[in-house]
Amino acid sequence: MRGNRGRTMGVPLVAALVLAVGTTDTVWSRHMARHPHLHAVVAKHRKMRLAALDPTAIAPAPAASKRQNLSAARCDPTTFRIVLDVGHTAESEGALSARNVAEFDFNLRLAQRIAERLKADGFADARLLVTQGRSTPSLFRRVAAANELQADLFLSIHHDSVPNFLLENWEFDGRKSHFSDRFAGYSVFVSRENPQFGASLKFAELVGREMRAQGLTYARQYTLPVMGRYQRQLLDKDTGVYRYDELVVLRKTRMPAVLLEAGSIINRDEELKMSSPEHQAMIASGVATAVREFCDPRWAILGPL
Ligand SMILES: [Zn+2]
Repeated sequence: MRGNRGRTMGVPLVAALVLAVGTTDTVWSRHMARHPHLHAVVAKHRKMRLAALDPTAIAPAPAASKRQNLSAARCDPTTFRIVLDVGHTAESEGALSARNVAEFDFNLRLAQRIAERLKADGFADARLLVTQGRSTPSLFRRVAAANELQADLFLSIHHDSVPNFLLENWEFDGRKSHFSDRFAGYSVFVSRENPQFGASLKFAELVGREMRAQGLTYARQYTLPVMGRYQRQLLDKDTGVYRYDELVVLRKTRMPAVLLEAGSIINRDEELKMSSPEHQAMIASGVATAVREFCDPRWAILGPL
């Protein structure tokens, strides 16, 4: 499935922002890359620079006052700017699935589907954020790009795994591989340190509610003692929204921000589901509905206006 890279990368990105980062970095173990706690790490090397950022990739943002008024006025989907952040980078690919496919591939594919769905629903200003470079600097580049764009909403797309001590061995395609079928499900994360925590929580609950409406269940393991330092506070037991204050992309962004772990790719059954275009379309549809409801709460009551 790694061979799919060329195909998926070949799909035209929707207003792709490609950020290249030139910096030294700490060496990340595979363990660090397996789990969203990775995002909480604060970079030791702050010597970052924004390089090779295509100036045409970022459209000039409307004046701040105009954009701020947007949230007060009725939402206009054509100008509502949601940034879909593709978790990890081609260089630092995040978790590895049970069948040895990089998380980045899953994130890119799903984020593309969500972007396409949002565009089809009239959200013409939806942006796909693809970042290059090593993991920790890339987190800060994502935040800088979203803040620079004065986005109205930020959604980071990821796929889940488990801490290394839960991994089991199997052989896939003649290669020693790892899996854990113990846990499954999506989860939604917010940070109390985001300056718009209330709105972040509202959007997170809408996303969780739409995932549930699609028949999906959320990952329960984050409340379990076995997770140790990966344990998280469950903020909404109906929708699967967890608190994760330290996540860089949630705490440093100035707009409402949410991270979606769409499903577990270390779980062998769920990995197959996450690979299916039908399942991706279903999640994309749920996310798009949540964005519409967030943008204009009346949508939920009246339908399209
Ligand atoms: Zn991830």
